[in-house]
Amino acid sequence: MPYSLARHPFPPAERRLVLGERTVLAQAGSDAAVTDSYVRLRLVEAAPGELAGFVAPGGGDHVTVAVGSADGGDVVVDDVDSSRAEFRTETVVDHSVDEGWIDLDVFVHGESGAELGVIGAWAARAPLGSPAVMRGPKGSVVLSGAPREVVLAGDDSALPAVRRYLRMLGPSITGYLLLETRFDLAALSIEPPAGLSVSILTPDVDGPSAALVDALQALPAPTDPLERFFFACGEQSIVAPGRALLAEWGIDVERAVLKGYWKR
Ligand SMILES: Cc1cc2nc3c(=O)[nH]c(=O)nc-3n(C[C@H](O)[C@H](O)[C@H](O)COP(=O)(O)OP(=O)(O)OC[C@H]3O[C@@H](n4cnc5c(N)ncnc54)[C@H](O)[C@@H]3O)c2cc1C
Repeated sequence: MPYSLARHPFPPAERRLVLGERTVLAQAGSDAAVTDSYVRLRLVEAAPGELAGFVAPGGGDHVTVAVGSADGGDVVVDDVDSSRAEFRTETVVDHSVDEGWIDLDVFVHGESGAELGVIGAWAARAPLGSPAVMRGPKGSVVLSGAPREVVLAGDDSALPAVRRYLRMLGPSITGYLLLETRFDLAALSIEPPAGLSVSILTPDVDGPSAALVDALQALPAPTDPLERFFFACGEQSIVAPGRALLAEWGIDVERAVLKGYWKR
């Protein structure tokens, strides 16, 4: 039976959280000079009940998070439609409403001690107890049924979503896994099933996601477009060639997940 992809909208929600735990999952670069890292943040409720009603059933379900300065400053947000704070989008890794926590895995770019970005620097350095404001998910994209084969392609920012999809698809899935990353997949608990052909591509700072696009374009067309599930997320430049490829393969873009996760 062909798979289906259903989109469910959720009502707006805003929740007050604090940084409860930080775990460095993986580092890239050398021992002498760590250049990038992947950090798991456990955000816990600032007050009991903040996470009441939170759900995120889809593989790529994501929230937006506003944080203060990397030294743990306050977060100033206005109403749900506008904000003085800058929000960053992160995939939901895991959560427990009963225990009052949510885990997010954040790609931190930049050298150790001089991390770049708003949430990147906060993820690396903010003191435990620092406040955060989380909105969403605005909705969920839920995959049902079992596709005969998959194409999963992502850069560092998409590794948490790829991991969730792999777990949902199960150990007997076949197809292609294309990842543009320098991280050790095992350290990020990404365990590709034996039936996937895995390509690990080297990120190029001057052409992020270009290697992913080349690798996607080199894949064979599906024998049955209704049976190939397609997920490709990375730098914004992945979107136009990704759309062209879906059209060439006869896959409806509404039955695929194709997104720019960040912009150069
Ligand atoms: C649906 C969705 C889900 C996402 N899920 C995750 C997730 O689970 N984990 C995650 O880490 N990110 C995820 N992202 C990307 C995330 O939203 C941010 O882009 C990222 O966390 C960078 O934010 P920042 O504040 O650290 O850097 P910014 O302040 O946004 O950027 C600082 C500088 O770093 C550059 N930069 C930003 N991202 C990257 C990158 N990936 N590689 C190289 N340079 C970069 C920017 O161009 C800029 O020059 C997701 C995005 C979307 C849309």
